[in-house]
Amino acid sequence: MDACVFCKISAGEIPAKVVHRDEVVVAIEDLNPQAPTHLLVMPAKHYGTIVDVSRAGDGLLGLIMEVAANLGRARGGAGGFRVVVNTGADGGQTVNHAHVHVLAGRPMSWPPG
Ligand code: 5GP
Ligand code: ZN
Repeated sequence: MDACVFCKISAGEIPAKVVHRDEVVVAIEDLNPQAPTHLLVMPAKHYGTIVDVSRAGDGLLGLIMEVAANLGRARGGAGGFRVVVNTGADGGQTVNHAHVHVLAGRPMSWPPG
């Protein structure tokens, strides 16, 4: 996926503030934060959506959610945090490399827009 911005970030070809990296999962700070903490947790390899990650069936989805939960707990503390996975056009996904948003540091409203 030559043109994929998150593949390029994962490969270190374009800069990002990386907050977690292991063999299969990368987490970065969002370029346009919607909360005091706004992180993106993604597979290091390219998958289009979270559905594709799930279909791979190799435990990767669990590893991504584990990183998201750990970062949310660390950043949100007692206040908590929110995990969001925009999927497809109606879901509001704009970058077609699967990722999980972790938001913290302010009260969140519901329902989402
Ligand atoms: P989506 O709308 O697909 O759920 O979320 C994509 C997110 O990626 C947005 O919150 C957007 O701000 C973020 N984003 C897009 N391009 C870049 C980039 O080049 N670097 C970083 N760090 N975040 C990006
Ligand atoms: Zn990609």
